[in-house]
Amino acid sequence: MQDLSTASAQTAAPAATLIDIGINLAHDSYDSDRDAVIERARSAGVAQMVVTGSTLASSVRAIALAREHPGRLFATAGVHPHHAGELAETSVAELEELARCAEVVAVGECGLDYFRDFAPREAQRAAFHRQLELATRVGKPVFLHQRDAHGDFAAILREHAARWRGVAHCFTGAAAELDCYLQLGLAIGITGWICDERRGSHLAALMPQIPPQRLLLETDGPYLLPRDLKPRPASRRNEPAYLPQIAVAVARARGESLQSLAQSSTAAARALFQLPPA
Ligand SMILES: [Zn+2]
Repeated sequence: MQDLSTASAQTAAPAATLIDIGINLAHDSYDSDRDAVIERARSAGVAQMVVTGSTLASSVRAIALAREHPGRLFATAGVHPHHAGELAETSVAELEELARCAEVVAVGECGLDYFRDFAPREAQRAAFHRQLELATRVGKPVFLHQRDAHGDFAAILREHAARWRGVAHCFTGAAAELDCYLQLGLAIGITGWICDERRGSHLAALMPQIPPQRLLLETDGPYLLPRDLKPRPASRRNEPAYLPQIAVAVARARGESLQSLAQSSTAAARALFQLPPA
């Protein structure tokens, strides 16, 4: 693993910084050592993080974390398709109140997941429409999740076209899907999926096609521990300090330097989520 602090020491440039745009830091797997996780991220060069909210309750926790770490942690507020049933007409107002908080930089994660189908598809589509409308009302971008639902997902985004900005988080799709997202104007979030030799090679081949101002990096911790991490933590828990591992894999796949990717992806994250400098 190439250490960002080493890389910057060699070039005598100011320390390179990364932004983890998708970290489920409110997840209970971080309950025992969350402060240490945040500190390790800082030491690894991860200057800022966007904490994912995926239910009303986890959005509240994400906002609380952002308030404890102003300027370093930010939050999303949204309802993941797995929990679409939670977003009945009545709770939209509750979500809107959260989404209007200053710490909230995006609405989501929201979208469609037909792989797990934990919520009925009709309920997923309704919750997705509501959150796209909500994002327009509050003037914030959307943090999008899609799995095995590309057709409906793209159709719904098109229905609301030109009224939202956003990122397709944890992109693992094929070339046609990437083309579609880029045409829709989305930014693309890349996780440690790309560090997996077996299932990430198609993704590596697509990396050069993503314009630098649209490429964002995320760990999606505690999920998706980069497979090439050495040594692998016994817990198998992913955390934001491992974001440089993902940046190295993406930079290699694009044939660019780590420093250059760090700069462009950080600038892209700041532009999309309107983050202040770290
Ligand atoms: Zn997701």
